Amino acid sequence: MYTLLCIFFVLTGTLTGCSKPEPTQAEFVLGTVCTITLYDAGKPKVYRAIFDRLVEIEKRMSVGMEGTDVYRVNEAAGIEAVVVHPTVFEVIERAVDFAKLSGGAFDPTVGPLVSLWGIGKDNPRLPEQAEIDAALPLINWRDIDLDREKSTVFLKRPGMALDLGAIAKGYAADEAAAIIKKAKVPRAIIDLGGNILVYGEKPDGTPWRVGIQNPLETRGAYIGIVEAREKTVVTSGVYERYFESDGVRYHHILSPALGYPVQNGLLSVTIIASRSIDADALSTSVFALGYKEGRALIDSLEDVAGIFVFDDLSIRLTKGASFRLTDDKYQIVSD
Ligand code: AMP
Ligand code: MG
Repeated sequence: MYTLLCIFFVLTGTLTGCSKPEPTQAEFVLGTVCTITLYDAGKPKVYRAIFDRLVEIEKRMSVGMEGTDVYRVNEAAGIEAVVVHPTVFEVIERAVDFAKLSGGAFDPTVGPLVSLWGIGKDNPRLPEQAEIDAALPLINWRDIDLDREKSTVFLKRPGMALDLGAIAKGYAADEAAAIIKKAKVPRAIIDLGGNILVYGEKPDGTPWRVGIQNPLETRGAYIGIVEAREKTVVTSGVYERYFESDGVRYHHILSPALGYPVQNGLLSVTIIASRSIDADALSTSVFALGYKEGRALIDSLEDVAGIFVFDDLSIRLTKGASFRLTDDKYQIVSD
């Protein structure tokens, strides 16, 4: 069990050291393996409360699951406004903020393109150009009508579809952290499929060490370490979901303008921030924007740092990114 646990930490992204095994619980929720580690005061009922909350979020925000709020909004596209739970409203509103902030590089109405490509599903495929051309006009966050008072969401045109895949896990991590805080658990690690939030600090007072995935290797190989306290570390990368066709790799972050996976020399973008919903939306936004504009966006925000990994194995860091490189095939450059 002890060895298993150590391997588990390494695989999921948080390097805690293997001095003392801590109870960890993992469940498959939100389309990924969610792993929670509660230290010291971690009681079964706190674990249960967290996983119940994650399941609740999935039941409200998943696109693929029939009957969720997001599913109902998509079904009613072009027809009518749909009342959603206030938490769903909040996440959609935040997604729209990031769509604005990123000039549309991040767009929660990317649903029709995600379905077309089927990336992360059983049968992904390279769509015909005509199919992409037909889907592109349906992607536009400006055509989301939000009514805060009524808590309704209306997608103005038939065929439009929301996809909160780039932001919901961040929201879920913040919710898990809120439960941990309320339960007075002093330290914890929340890992929602590589979307990490570290709560409190290590018992010896040193920061947590979070491994940054090598984007060219299978999960569990790291290029370096971020040291963090009370932070979330979220990565968007080409390795997360992809398929191959005729030797070409197609990953899951799509350009709302072109309809294809974004190609801009980046392999991954990691965001270090205080709120996971922001870090999640930002990692996708910044990846989609590319280095120059993405970096400018990070620099314009308080308390946000970024790590850019490029396909020539160079790494660029923004101010405040406490990153230690451990893989000598990569190189930190300063512009
Ligand atoms: P992440 O792993 O957080 O970067 O989110 C990627 C997921 O968000 C994809 O699997 C899609 O479901 C969705 N997505 C893809 N492209 C975009 C985009 N340009 N804007 C918003 N969401 C996107
Ligand atoms: Mg994201």
